[in-house]
Amino acid sequence: MKPVIAIVGRPNVGKSTLFNRLTKSRDAIVADFAGLTRDRHYGNGRQGRYEYIVIDTGGFEPDASDGIYREMARQTQQAVAEADVVIFVVDARAGVCAQDQDIANYLRRSGRPCVLVANKAEGMLEGAQPAQFYELGLGTVYPVSASHGQGVRDLVEVALDPLHLPEQDAPDANADKGTIRLAVAGRPNVGKSTLINTWLGEERLVVFDMPGTTRDAIVVPFERSGQRFELVDTAGLRRKGKVFAAVEKFSVVKTLQAIESAHVVLLVLDATQGVTDQDAHIAGYILESGRSVTLAVNKWDAVDAYQRQLLQRSIESRLAFLKFAALHFISAQKRQGLGPLWASIVQAYRSANCKMSTPVLTRLLLEAVQFQSPKRAGMFRPKMRYAHQGGMNPPVIVIHGNSLEHVTDAYKRFLEGRFRKAFDLEGTPLRIELKTSH
Ligand code: GDP
Ligand code: GDP
Repeated sequence: MKPVIAIVGRPNVGKSTLFNRLTKSRDAIVADFAGLTRDRHYGNGRQGRYEYIVIDTGGFEPDASDGIYREMARQTQQAVAEADVVIFVVDARAGVCAQDQDIANYLRRSGRPCVLVANKAEGMLEGAQPAQFYELGLGTVYPVSASHGQGVRDLVEVALDPLHLPEQDAPDANADKGTIRLAVAGRPNVGKSTLINTWLGEERLVVFDMPGTTRDAIVVPFERSGQRFELVDTAGLRRKGKVFAAVEKFSVVKTLQAIESAHVVLLVLDATQGVTDQDAHIAGYILESGRSVTLAVNKWDAVDAYQRQLLQRSIESRLAFLKFAALHFISAQKRQGLGPLWASIVQAYRSANCKMSTPVLTRLLLEAVQFQSPKRAGMFRPKMRYAHQGGMNPPVIVIHGNSLEHVTDAYKRFLEGRFRKAFDLEGTPLRIELKTSH
């Protein structure tokens, strides 16, 4: 599981700027979905060998009023509770103020590992100004400049190194090859625990006795029709004895961690509720993580034909970005439609790990271009020469040629469709990268 860093501090010290720095190394999709959570921002990040999740608590209006101040405290407390380490940001130029003191007191009491950072320290004499922050009682002060990117890489190391994290177990580094790690994700009450317990009670599904435990996570190994799986527990889901039960509080961080550690995510929606904002957030995180996904609309038994139609339409529009995922309508309670889910989950896993050879990719590419060539843009006509596979899980196809910066998104989607069809890729995101040689 990725470690979680929370960024706290009073308004205007540069928390959002630092958040953007820490998450910048990932794809731009992060930015596209950043606006989805209004109160707190969650993002994935990577610096050097460290991968992590960052929470920014800066999403509130700094207008001073009691209500807002209380809201800030609440945000800070929640983020701190979810974090492995806290980055406490102060303003190197403004010096210590009362609000900094309050936050420092809170952090000291919380007992969380904490790194004190004096931001906006660009161009300041080494060690001079930040020294006053020692009075906050949180030890060493690290000067950084979030907007100039100075000190940020070291900061990640300072924050994460003392946690002594085990080697991060990326799903593809899974020792037990061929075992599919499955996370069942979704809002509270959509029926996740009902579904899992129905599964685990089925005779076709052989649950192994010893659930393995990784850091903070419970993993249940089982086998179905000769295929090995591992169920990772998800936000709001915990194993209680032999059954899974929902816990009260939904945690975005736990959801993100489960998604990150899975090969395939089964996203469960509730037919009686339609597609809610929270569903869209979770879907956004899945897409951003690059994981494979299967969609299940549960409680299909509880809606009539009209509602079903509405629902299908709202899925098509609100979850259009997961169009590549198989969609199933199920009833966990009545045990309807559950069988076909497995085929889709396995298919999603296979698709994510699909191997595509350069000759085949290049042939498909040239056939596609012959069928429909990319549009000329002014003087430029993009010329595609060959393609190779740039990665797996999710698969990446790299296309080489000239003037490829003029290729439209619509044309990329056209190519994506051709590749998907040819390789029977269902349930996995597919990334297409264009490389122009000059
Ligand atoms: P937040 O309210 O704590 O999230 O703060 P923001 O990230 O929105 O930053 C507040 C202001 O400080 C903005 O005008 C930023 O451009 C500025 N700022 C952020 N980081 C730095 C920095 O490293 N140096 C300087 N000089 N300004 C910064
Ligand atoms: P979780 O919070 O996502 O784990 O949701 P639960 O499994 O606890 O289910 C929430 C509620 O939905 C419970 O009252 C279940 O009985 C009900 N429920 C679960 N699956 C179905 C279903 O297929 N049909 C109907 N009608 N209700 C269901």
